[in-house]
Amino acid sequence: MSKQGIVSLEGVCMNYQDLEGETPALKNIDLEVQEGEFIGIVGPSGCGKSTILSLIAGLIKPCSGQVKIEGKEVEGPSSKVGYMLQQDHLFEWRTILQNVMLGLEIQKKANEENKKKVMKLLDTYGLGDFKNHYPRQLSGGMRQRVALIRTLAVDPKILLLDEPFSALDYQTRLALSDEVADIIKKEKKTALLVTHDISEAISMCNRVIVLSKRPGVIKSSHDIHLSGEKRNPVSLRKAPEFREYFNIIWEELDVHVN
Ligand code: ADP
Repeated sequence: MSKQGIVSLEGVCMNYQDLEGETPALKNIDLEVQEGEFIGIVGPSGCGKSTILSLIAGLIKPCSGQVKIEGKEVEGPSSKVGYMLQQDHLFEWRTILQNVMLGLEIQKKANEENKKKVMKLLDTYGLGDFKNHYPRQLSGGMRQRVALIRTLAVDPKILLLDEPFSALDYQTRLALSDEVADIIKKEKKTALLVTHDISEAISMCNRVIVLSKRPGVIKSSHDIHLSGEKRNPVSLRKAPEFREYFNIIWEELDVHVN
């Protein structure tokens, strides 16, 4: 048996209730994420990918089954988990530094020591010169990097990324996905990425989970091993194994126009 992961979902089912009735979103999800893993979650639109992240973030509770972080059942949002979304949600009236300090301010931890740490993060990831700029003065890719640093500033162990690049143009997306994968590895985080982009999942993650149509069940799990020394998105996508993973996952997704 595998050891208890930093995140685990055991027999998780989720149904949403609304005025029109019940929408079953997830069925019997078992997922064990080990510390340091970077998991990609792909599946057809509406199959429950974001729901998995909301459950781990403690924003919703499963109808049955258990969601645990470090062996403890998730009762609600916690500072162990950072969430990064498609929209960067930066405040336009705050400078970049003020934006990345926001989470620390909310947690009443905006002390000098933490401010130094944040400045270091900005410097390390190429944003030091922009700390007094406002979000509108930055490109979309830079804004998303700021959003990531804001998430990292409160030092969560687990990062949840929900389509974080989908509002960006293709070139920026490619470059940023590589940078983000790198940052997450360097900062030794465990991460789960929801994406509809199979190539993005294969090139960024060490494991890719494929969900079925709604209600989502885990159809398969692929450990990703790509050969090649230079780890950047273009070279990784040229690795001979890349196309194989892509074709298998594409078939499993069963996306047909009709
Ligand atoms: P995905 O991220 O794979 O696109 P979601 O997890 O967002 O899928 O949603 C799964 C299903 O649950 C969808 O059919 C969606 O319409 C439904 N759903 C999501 N959130 C709610 C909600 N708050 N109330 C009712 N239905 C919801």
